[in-house]
Amino acid sequence: MKTKLIYSLFILALLSCKVEDKQASTSIKTIVCTTGMLGDAVEHIVGPNVEVITLMGPGVDPHLYKATQGDLKSLTNADVIVYNGLHLEGKMGEIFEKLEKQKHIIVAAEGLTEEEYINNTEFQGAQDPHIWFDVALWSKAVQHIGTELAQLSSDSLAITFKTNTKSYTAQLLQLNTSVQQEVNKLDSSKRILITAHDAFGYFGRAYNFKVRGLQGISTTSEYGLKDVSDLVNYIVHNEIKAVFVESSVSEKSLQAVVEGCLQKGHQVKIGGQLYSDAMGDAETVEGTYIGMVQHNVKTIVEGLQ
Ligand SMILES: [Zn+2]
Repeated sequence: MKTKLIYSLFILALLSCKVEDKQASTSIKTIVCTTGMLGDAVEHIVGPNVEVITLMGPGVDPHLYKATQGDLKSLTNADVIVYNGLHLEGKMGEIFEKLEKQKHIIVAAEGLTEEEYINNTEFQGAQDPHIWFDVALWSKAVQHIGTELAQLSSDSLAITFKTNTKSYTAQLLQLNTSVQQEVNKLDSSKRILITAHDAFGYFGRAYNFKVRGLQGISTTSEYGLKDVSDLVNYIVHNEIKAVFVESSVSEKSLQAVVEGCLQKGHQVKIGGQLYSDAMGDAETVEGTYIGMVQHNVKTIVEGLQ
């Protein structure tokens, strides 16, 4: 409680240092993004002449992430802030609220319509934030970011941003087609995706998979023995061959499920690691959004075949 109070005071102190009102930025020099997927999209949109800072690196869980002192400095110095929204960055809400008056903020999820959101079954009125798993929807979110950035910029920059957005969203739509072709290799009866937490709802809806996670939509929710035994029964009943661990969630949880299945005489393997809420290491193929999606789809299809 005391640490929370100190943390809040610290945020307040830092954010009140700069209280000049936001102006129409004609020169955007620095953009701060929360997740790797957003950082990647923004880098594609703005090109090499704008600095893009991504707060959450590989393996980082955005549901649990708390801004560091360095992050707060980056946020207060940024010309534009881009975050996912729908409470993905659950512990940063207070900071975004405070920055709203001073900074240009773009929320990726606002590129989608209400009807396109998946409702969070655990919290009434809340929506599932994992929109990047439906590649076609993600291209709409990227389009929204590109349009907003162009509006904030001088004419010459705006043209560059619009051209780059057009070419990146075209790449994303191509990726969407290739994902559809890849998952079509799997018989529809085999399309059951079990992961550590419920990140793949949009993936399931877009590519026709049943999805289930041991933990809920946010990793902040605890799971109990009953969740493990329910999932074990479901896997045994449906004769599911593989479950998948996630790079940003501990493997321990799913290990209990694998052991539970073994005790019931059903062998289920860990089908591989998926990049769910964070991308892979920088300088690797999986360290890009497109590479991460391709890796996930390949791993899922091979694991369930
Ligand atoms: Zn998540």
